[in-house]
Amino acid sequence: MDDSDMMRRLADKAGRGEGIGRDEIRWVLEQSDPARIGEICAAASAVRAKFLGNQACIHGIIEMSNICRRNCLYCGVRRDNRAVARYRLEPERIIELGAAAVKRFGYKMLVLQSGEDLYYTTGMLASVIKEITRQCGALIFLSIGERDETTYQKLYLAGARGTLFRFETSSPALYAKMHPGASFDERVAHLRFMKDIGYIVAAGPLIGLPGQTLETLADDIAFVRDLGALMVSTGPFIPHPLTPLAGSPVVPASLVRKAIAAARLAMPRVRIPVTTAMEHLWGDGFRRDALRSGANSFMLNLTPDDVRDRYDIYPDKNKRAECLHSAAAFAGVNAIIEECGMKLCRGFGIEFPVTDAAFAAGCSMDRT
Ligand code: SAH
Repeated sequence: MDDSDMMRRLADKAGRGEGIGRDEIRWVLEQSDPARIGEICAAASAVRAKFLGNQACIHGIIEMSNICRRNCLYCGVRRDNRAVARYRLEPERIIELGAAAVKRFGYKMLVLQSGEDLYYTTGMLASVIKEITRQCGALIFLSIGERDETTYQKLYLAGARGTLFRFETSSPALYAKMHPGASFDERVAHLRFMKDIGYIVAAGPLIGLPGQTLETLADDIAFVRDLGALMVSTGPFIPHPLTPLAGSPVVPASLVRKAIAAARLAMPRVRIPVTTAMEHLWGDGFRRDALRSGANSFMLNLTPDDVRDRYDIYPDKNKRAECLHSAAAFAGVNAIIEECGMKLCRGFGIEFPVTDAAFAAGCSMDRT
């Protein structure tokens, strides 16, 4: 089959809602001709429009704590990095920030993220979730790392409805290398029980980890599809000078764009956000490119100014002005969405099966 036949086959398959397979994903990732990449991205964008309409939505992230018991080789807030100033937001502050983001800036979806910081007990996290949803009916995603199933059950009962939990790589050997003392099987066991509990699961790989190949990246995207995640969260690995991976190369934007397009062609109905590491490296230009390659949401940073530059998972993470948690940042992203012929969705986005009455007060599922 020549490349034009392949291109047609992918577009047909995805257009039928079937989703492309692992070898087709790999083919997408291998392409280097800009015209061909353009065609692939346009096909992915058409698939998004067909199955999800032209809506894009915005998630806000509150980085609650950079204290972490893990030692992931790529991460700037790994336990052994003694140079980073640690911080932790108290529950009252998290509630205040979350509620303000919803009431003042119009966020509907919040991600509460942190290192693996066991200071936050299940009870504390449950009360944060309950209080935010009581005040304003937001859809809350947890991104707090590995906790046991009972904890995740309790947090679901408290009102959390999503988890943002990347598996980073689907190669067990590479996973073990990158995560001392942890295993891929354990990570995936978490994803499976989260799904069984009823969480909307957002998962995906880091792109460009040393040791990753196009083959393993294709496996990663196929893995998200097989998992049945409703959201694909991925991003470029950015080397941090105070980690064992200092000095590693950064992947080109084109590979991340192809990965977004491949994910969209493989999973016509999932949500695909433009994540903060993409914005950090490549700015507004990439935001537009990503929306035109099948992405349909954004992650904006809501971490308060006094601590934001300490959430240094990659260097200078929160120093860019456009990360500011202001009405202006929201409006800026809205302008990009409109420029790309899309509309800001004021609700959760129609592709999420969230119907709980508890959320109805704060969020209508509008279909504009
Ligand atoms: N403790 C939580 C949240 C981790 S931080 C958890 O375990 O899920 C969120 C994500 O940041 C990670 O899953 C990882 O994919 C990403 N990340 C960490 N270090 C990074 C780096 N140097 N460059 C790019 N992304 C990074």
